[in-house]
Amino acid sequence: MRYDPAMLSFDVCNAARLRRDPRYDGRFFTAVKTTGIYCRPVCPAKQPLTRNVAYYPSAAAAEVAGFRPCLRCRPETAPFCPAWNGTRSTVARAVRLINDGALDEGSVVDLAMRLGISSRHLARLFERHVGATPRQLAKTLRVQRAKRLLDAGDDSMTDIAFRAGFGSLRRFNAAFAELYGRSPSSLRAVRARRA
Ligand SMILES: [Zn+2]
Repeated sequence: MRYDPAMLSFDVCNAARLRRDPRYDGRFFTAVKTTGIYCRPVCPAKQPLTRNVAYYPSAAAAEVAGFRPCLRCRPETAPFCPAWNGTRSTVARAVRLINDGALDEGSVVDLAMRLGISSRHLARLFERHVGATPRQLAKTLRVQRAKRLLDAGDDSMTDIAFRAGFGSLRRFNAAFAELYGRSPSSLRAVRARRA
């Protein structure tokens, strides 16, 4: 996949990761090939070897490549300052709209119309700058929203599912099973044990 030159180079990402530089938090994600996990640059876990990492411009891109979010640095809590911010205002606007739930019920065609571009053009922009389709990004953001709610309080699973933008509890459970390989309630148990 080809990213915009604005996407940070491997060397820049690698240096930022090795010094756990908070200025890069949210601007790229580190995937660790040996564990199948992806992290924020500030992850406190033991540093993986450089030959075992790959860098992605978004959490969604790391997930599309088959990596799971780290339970330690919690990529869903990374600041919302993706690498494509400022590079393409259309992409930044689309990301904001998707983050606000534009694709939880609406269609990609409607989203493209709101942005004044064709859905094909939108797809190309996403492939180039985000490394994931608008739908894949929407899915990542829904799971992230739900994960934050899960970690924040004791709302019921049904409440969280709907507030995060899942149409049903079944879809909420399926998304977590697919991404984390476990159920939302078992992730809450992880939090409880840590606290
Ligand atoms: Zn991590």
